[in-house]
Amino acid sequence: MHEFDPRLIALVMALRKQGIIDARVLSAIERTPRDLFVGEAFSHAAYDNSALPIACGQTISQPYVVAVSTEALAVNETMRVLEIGTGSGYQAAVLAQLCRRVYSIERHRSLHLEAERRFKALRIPNIATKLGDGFQGWPEQAPFDRILLTAAVTEVPQALIEQLKPGGILVAPIGDQPDSNLESNCQLLTKMIRTETGLKKEALISVVFVPMLPGMPQD
Ligand code: SAH
Repeated sequence: MHEFDPRLIALVMALRKQGIIDARVLSAIERTPRDLFVGEAFSHAAYDNSALPIACGQTISQPYVVAVSTEALAVNETMRVLEIGTGSGYQAAVLAQLCRRVYSIERHRSLHLEAERRFKALRIPNIATKLGDGFQGWPEQAPFDRILLTAAVTEVPQALIEQLKPGGILVAPIGDQPDSNLESNCQLLTKMIRTETGLKKEALISVVFVPMLPGMPQD
């Protein structure tokens, strides 16, 4: 049983120490077998509080960053949430336990298919996935209560702002890519609330995400 995996308990304790206080977020992380979302080569490190490489040169986010993002979204069980960048599917699997439905878009076919396979194997019924360009969002399913970008942008695409309900929350890493010589944290995970007049912004923590890229790759 994953609930009793000591590595998961240790991870949750580490997240508590780092200031994550939302019990629902902590318990969603505790119930999500992260080892099933990383490749075999890295499964020994699955419960370390660090980002890890996945296929297509992408990364599965650090659990701390998943926790901060999920906490900032302040979801409840009535909400529909759009995620850009399915990647391994880990963040979507955590979110799906706390909201009505997650809609997750990925531009790499192999990652998209692999994540779908995982959701099926784990019998997670409330994640809808789409192979596509997240810059377009998912207009057929809009508007969303919450939107989470798990790839970095220099500014939030207008199409996504338009797909967020008024009063809705969008969380995104905003900033440039790190200089390859410097391991600097150069994006700010930012929480935005859509108000009647625009967006109210609050910076959360420094992060390093892979960039959100336009269009579709050749795979
Ligand atoms: N949320 C993921 C981590 C994502 S890494 C997890 O929990 O594992 C960022 C992902 O965003 C990568 O898989 C990358 O391919 C994807 N991505 C980048 N640009 C995109 C775009 N325009 N549309 C959809 N996905 C994109």
